[in-house]
Amino acid sequence: MIAKNQTKVLVTGAGGFIGSHLVTYLKNKGYWVRGVDIKEPEFSKTDADEFELLDLRRWDNCLQATRNIQEVYALAADMGGMGFISNHNAQILYNNSLINLHTLDAAKTNGVERYLYTSSACIYPEYLQEEADVKPLKEEDAYPAQPQDAYGWEKLISEILCMHYRNDYGIETRTVRFHNIFGEKGSWEGGREKAPAAMCRKIAEVKLTGKKEIEIWGDGEQTRSFCYVDDCVEGIHRLIHSDFSEPLNLGQDRIVTINQLADIIAEIANVKVTKKHIDGPMGVRGRNSDNTKLREVLGWEPKISLEDGLKKTYDWIENQVKEKIQNKTETAAA
Ligand code: NAD
Repeated sequence: MIAKNQTKVLVTGAGGFIGSHLVTYLKNKGYWVRGVDIKEPEFSKTDADEFELLDLRRWDNCLQATRNIQEVYALAADMGGMGFISNHNAQILYNNSLINLHTLDAAKTNGVERYLYTSSACIYPEYLQEEADVKPLKEEDAYPAQPQDAYGWEKLISEILCMHYRNDYGIETRTVRFHNIFGEKGSWEGGREKAPAAMCRKIAEVKLTGKKEIEIWGDGEQTRSFCYVDDCVEGIHRLIHSDFSEPLNLGQDRIVTINQLADIIAEIANVKVTKKHIDGPMGVRGRNSDNTKLREVLGWEPKISLEDGLKKTYDWIENQVKEKIQNKTETAAA
């Protein structure tokens, strides 16, 4: 049942990490929510009023997804951590271009009023991110463009697409550039997981199996900032209703090395770990968010500390690892 005056919202990628959290956030705010994805949420039942399994690379499916909708949060993407992004350039460029071209065009065709596109810090040029002690990235640093991977190039093109659809057709597009969002209910194994989840898994394995060592790609001195998912969904809800239509950073601006990230998680888990540095994709050497514009535009910025967010994330991943070990033991005993 849709209540009179209830805003109807579409979340694409609602079966994924941020999408599933966003659906819950929007439901708690009183919206009527349709979720769309090519897969059901992996870790809990969706809170959406309606959930449709649709491949958004197809325009007809995008038309179906955006019917009778006032606001779209476009989160669907073929994506993962550095290991995935740096090894699937053609696939990512093809799939994500189709998803974003078709979702935005269908939204315009169906008269959607507001459209939030989720871009990424991966659009920023490689030449500004060569030092671990990096200068925080401002929105205007995006050009001259030189993203490291096809993932970032596609995000840049879709940002520009949003600008032109707003100028030419009047659809109110908003663009957010996320900086490393983490939390529970995201990929934690299988190749698509990002650094915080991968590190929580490796440290949980040390704790639960008596292993001593964790592997870290590169020397671990590469730097990033990490933002907890509850801040992320609050930020994009604020942004879609703001009058700011240029791309905006959304992340924390506290920079840590990957070695420090591992130390914080090991402390949360209360275990001692030995770090083994191996070859692997590291991404850019350093990256941080400049939040000056975020504070100006939204009068708000992410508040949840890295330690608090990691505690929740670690506890959830430790439980996942525990369940997996139990299932393996039961299968072996059967
Ligand atoms: P995710 O992989 O958990 O979610 C993306 C969802 O899109 C998945 O559930 C996937 O099944 C779905 N999808 C993929 N192809 C599809 C298709 N053809 N049709 C319909 N659905 C499809 O990723 P996430 O971390 O939740 O990211 C959400 C958005 O935020 C993405 O656009 C991502 O690029 C962007 N982003 C995320 C981060 C981060 O740190 N998590 C950083 C920068 C940008």
